Amino acid sequence: MIVLGIESTAHTLGIGIVREEKVGVNKKWDCLASQKSMFEPDQGGIHPRKAAEHHYQHALELLNNAEQEAGIDISEVDGIAFSQGPGIPQCLDTGAVIARSLAEKHGIPLIGVNHCLSHISIGTRTTKADNPTTLYVSGGNSQIIDYRKGRYRVIGETQDIALGNALDKLARTMGYPHPGGPEIERLAEQTDEIVELSYPVKGMDFSFSGIVTETQRTVGDLEDQVLANSFQEHAYAVVVEALERAMSQEDSEEALLTGGVAMNSRLREMVRTMCEQRGAKAYFPPKEYCMDNGVMIAEQGLLELKAGSKTRIEESTKKPNWRPDEVEVEWI
Ligand code: AMP
Ligand code: MG
Repeated sequence: MIVLGIESTAHTLGIGIVREEKVGVNKKWDCLASQKSMFEPDQGGIHPRKAAEHHYQHALELLNNAEQEAGIDISEVDGIAFSQGPGIPQCLDTGAVIARSLAEKHGIPLIGVNHCLSHISIGTRTTKADNPTTLYVSGGNSQIIDYRKGRYRVIGETQDIALGNALDKLARTMGYPHPGGPEIERLAEQTDEIVELSYPVKGMDFSFSGIVTETQRTVGDLEDQVLANSFQEHAYAVVVEALERAMSQEDSEEALLTGGVAMNSRLREMVRTMCEQRGAKAYFPPKEYCMDNGVMIAEQGLLELKAGSKTRIEESTKKPNWRPDEVEVEWI
């Protein structure tokens, strides 16, 4: 089975193609193509209309490149998957329009998938984690998710902005370009000095708006390196503490770290240390699959198509606020 996936929830337009085939009694999985183009704002954050325009402008080029990379024609794929939500409405529309057009033109099943669950599915596929508790931290989402009894449950989540967005906002105030996460990481690596900031754990949830404002107020008074390091140490400890409590509550022996912020070495180190201390296993997907990409959407589409689900055109409208715990899981 071959599935093409289209990611377009925010800054990235991604086209991925995956294949799963039977080889004897085993199944062989391949990523046949991964193409992406990222919208990079000149200033400020992600402007919805400009990001959507970027996606429309790059769609044909990426589709052609993906066909070439995979050595197949789109008419040969068994399913067209797309990110139906959550995400920026204008951006979601672009992916949905491309997906519907291709599916209708070639008479191929359409599969609208949940973006958050795609991050988990590509994570378990590439790391072979079995049933992990996931810390999903990205530009738009920050959640701790666990699969129990037929559904993914959100055990903890941010009460305001996402961790990636917090890093981006802080970096912008300090005068660094978008995306801010890698800039903050680079600065933090240059010092061991830490100043005390608030520690925003709220039960199983957490919050980042306040600590961003608190840190932003000291920009210019303290060295950027010290601010970046202090922010990372506090904010990452918050999500790792919440992850540990979720694992303890759910009796989980595996942790999966995913989303764009999962690229961060210090966060990975904290998750690894916490898991070692609990005797649990920590899993980190390859970095190219942490940030938004089309391959994870193709993978999620493959899982759902194998389980027999398809999305009718009239049900394929965008779902900007679609939570992972609303999804009927039929593929596990
Ligand atoms: P996503 O929304 O999953 O594509 O992830 C994008 C987010 O990941 C942005 O907020 C980036 O700032 C963040 N990010 C990317 N690389 C890193 C990094 N090395 N450390 C921390 N955050 C990062
Ligand atoms: Mg994402």
